[in-house]
Amino acid sequence: CGIVGYVGDRQAADFLLEGLAKLEYRGYDSAGIAVYHDGKIKVQKKVGRLVNLKKVVEQDPNIGTIGIGHTRWATHGGPSDVNSHPHMSMDGKFAVVHNGIIENYMTLKEELLAKGYQFKSETDTEVVAHLCSDMYDGDFASTVRRVLKRLRGSYSLVFMSTYQPDTIICCKKDNPLIVGLGDGENYIASDIPAILNYTRRTYIMNDGEVAIVKKDSVWVTDLDGQPVSKKVFEVNWDA
Ligand code: GLU
Repeated sequence: CGIVGYVGDRQAADFLLEGLAKLEYRGYDSAGIAVYHDGKIKVQKKVGRLVNLKKVVEQDPNIGTIGIGHTRWATHGGPSDVNSHPHMSMDGKFAVVHNGIIENYMTLKEELLAKGYQFKSETDTEVVAHLCSDMYDGDFASTVRRVLKRLRGSYSLVFMSTYQPDTIICCKKDNPLIVGLGDGENYIASDIPAILNYTRRTYIMNDGEVAIVKKDSVWVTDLDGQPVSKKVFEVNWDA
């Protein structure tokens, strides 16, 4: 399982597919990407090997310079196209990828179902997408932090939103996540090999930190929105 993200001036899908390939060693049963363009987030996802997803993207290019990607190791809901990530909120405003397990998803799902939210997948992850719309307070980062406080379990989570289409937000708990620092572009990945062709400068994310990633800046806070000062970790080895 693996996670990637890109924001910059290049086509996001190129990095996302290459980065996911570099994370193949982690194992997976399905893969997907979401890219923002022209007011919309377009999701493409496919059960099976990455080549299945690549074919979909070759036939129907996912244009745009900001996006997220995922390889899944199914824990809740069997491997299928629908259960693959990214997952979207019903209103199409939020896309989420997740590695790990949301332990309290059943309670959250019942609450959301009672409010009229409809679920497309059997995953634990989909509650996170719907919670984002349900808890949206006018600010993408503050919404994500409030959603995170409701989650129990383990995660690397990466979020995109049409409300703030120049920004990717990511965070982790008991699952790995790094931010790769580029020049006018930035990267997100579960592990260093995914980004080594692009940059060697990274932030290694700690539990409870939230990174707000744009093409020219990476801003890290704690779950209350207080700034965290990060040291740049320079990778001095080859994958
Ligand atoms: N628990 C999530 C799911 O089953 C994420 C699995 C993973 O780590 O890839 O969809």
